Amino acid sequence: MSVCQTCGACCASFRVDFHPVELAGGAFAWGQGVPVEMTVPVTPAIVRLCGTDASPPRCVALAGEVGVAVSCSIYDVRPSPCREFDVEHAACNRARQRCGLAELPRS
Ligand code: SF4
Ligand code: SF4
Repeated sequence: MSVCQTCGACCASFRVDFHPVELAGGAFAWGQGVPVEMTVPVTPAIVRLCGTDASPPRCVALAGEVGVAVSCSIYDVRPSPCREFDVEHAACNRARQRCGLAELPRS
């Protein structure tokens, strides 16, 4: 099990915005694309994953318990910001800290 599967902090910390072309049926969708019903429109050029601007934030697609065991229910079709974020991202430890999890060591 990867550290991310026992974490999920980034999915419960940050707004996740992306272009509507990545939605289901969009020209640049990954696979089937992000389900439209999991998003809210922000501007004509931006949609947001539901729950990521809640207080506290939590993406509607996140399953499980943060810091214990999590999974992304739309992993294969998740949008580009999610694909670009991993343990190497500078904000990874910020998210972990925010969720009360230990920082990961940096090399
Ligand atoms: S905050 Fe870091 S360790 Fe946690 S799921 Fe996101 S990328 Fe993985
Ligand atoms: S779509 Fe998946 S990877 Fe992206 S924020 Fe939501 S739960 Fe996390």
